[in-house]
Amino acid sequence: MSCLFCKMVNREIPIDPVYEDDELLAFRDINPAAPTHILIIPKQHIATLNDLTPKTAHLIGKMVTKARDIATEAGFAENGYRIVMNCNSDGGQSVYHIHLHLLGGRSLQWPPC
Ligand code: AMP
Ligand code: ZN
Repeated sequence: MSCLFCKMVNREIPIDPVYEDDELLAFRDINPAAPTHILIIPKQHIATLNDLTPKTAHLIGKMVTKARDIATEAGFAENGYRIVMNCNSDGGQSVYHIHLHLLGGRSLQWPPC
């Protein structure tokens, strides 16, 4: 498996996890777009949102809830934050293992370019 995020899950690449449980892993984005930029991924390899199934759909709720919890712990939940999932090339996806971006700690513009 050549997937970068699977290698992180399997610790073939060392990481400093922000959060981990039996189904999810969270770590800081290497190229942060905000003061806090964390990626939350399922441990299971799912290439894109288009590959989500009824059996794996619960992971999205867990990822969103965990993003909310991390935002709360980081202290910017009240001011606000953004969660993003990019899908395929037009969506700007560059790593083909689904991930939720949590961006917070500054005022974000809309729409994204
Ligand atoms: P996306 O463009 O939505 O697929 O997001 C992929 C994200 O993964 C980008 O924001 C990258 O900065 C981030 N990324 C790529 N390689 C690493 C890495 N080794 N560690 C942490 N984040 C990474
Ligand atoms: Zn993967």
